Amino acid sequence: MIPAAFEYHAPTSVAEAVSLLDRHGEGAKILAGGHSLLPLMKLRLAQPEVLIDLARIGDLAYIRRNGGGLSIGAMTTYTEIESSSDVQSAAPALGEAAGMVADRQVRNMGTIGGCLAHADPAGDLPAIILALGAQILTSSTGPHRTIPIDDFFVDLFTTALEHNEIINEIQIPALPAGTGTAYAKFGNKASHYAIVGVAAVVTASGGTCQSVRIGITGAGPKAVRATAAESALTGAGLDDASIKAAAQHAGEGIDFNEDVHASAEYRAHLTKLYTERVLLQAAARAG
Ligand SMILES: Cc1cc2nc3c(=O)[nH]c(=O)nc-3n(C[C@H](O)[C@H](O)[C@H](O)COP(=O)(O)OP(=O)(O)OC[C@H]3O[C@@H](n4cnc5c(N)ncnc54)[C@H](O)[C@@H]3O)c2cc1C
Repeated sequence: MIPAAFEYHAPTSVAEAVSLLDRHGEGAKILAGGHSLLPLMKLRLAQPEVLIDLARIGDLAYIRRNGGGLSIGAMTTYTEIESSSDVQSAAPALGEAAGMVADRQVRNMGTIGGCLAHADPAGDLPAIILALGAQILTSSTGPHRTIPIDDFFVDLFTTALEHNEIINEIQIPALPAGTGTAYAKFGNKASHYAIVGVAAVVTASGGTCQSVRIGITGAGPKAVRATAAESALTGAGLDDASIKAAAQHAGEGIDFNEDVHASAEYRAHLTKLYTERVLLQAAARAG
């Protein structure tokens, strides 16, 4: 199918992009990698009057060390994240999750900013970005904002972004010594989207869990933290039995999706299973 007609702009700075967004109001959409927006436009499920393409803004694609953490520009692609040695040393499971997205063509085009702004309930990165406790830096013609990731995902395809606001950077905090990270998913065999995907970031000391964050995607309408499972494991030993017991709480509070790919009951089962797996892996990596 051919998209409906639209006006196209290719700004060369963030200031120009946000001023265009402001000028064209709710009829305007940001274009990043285009791998979610363009299929929607071709199906006429989205019909923006104006597209503002970020591709020519040179300073939005980067991965920088920020203390012990990371600053990642919104236009950084999955491939760049997957192959970054800085990501591999500061937050290895982020690189692993990026490497599990779709296929090479999608990973070469899709961006971290586009993935988070789109808030697809089956997207991979929301789970690990939640588990890492990231912050989302945004620009608009108004004040710049820093949005904690815990407040970012609001509902199905809905985030805390205002219509005239763009993501320009994702900040990942430094992880304490003794921290392990992991991401695993049960993916759709054709698209690889997560039917259920779970990420864990575990900090251990002397075999005990000092802190843990767990992010879940695919299971419900939006990516969420498994706070009940986190509470159950914090302060407990990182042995198989404690991890299995904590993982049983992973689905609490989730209104499970039910579709052609999996029933709600199966998603609830996968959520516990994959939570156990990533907790075991993250704990082993935490040493
Ligand atoms: C065949 C196929 C398979 C896929 N499989 C997977 C998969 O396994 N896992 C997965 O996670 N994803 C998958 N995807 C989706 C892919 O990851 C998308 O690239 C991603 O979700 C969106 O990123 P994008 O850069 O392409 O954004 P775009 O499509 O350009 O934009 C998506 C939305 O975000 C907005 N936006 C983009 N950038 C910004 C910004 N900086 N600030 C504010 N708003 C912004 C746009 O206005 C639009 O509403 C798949 C896509 C395809 C086509």
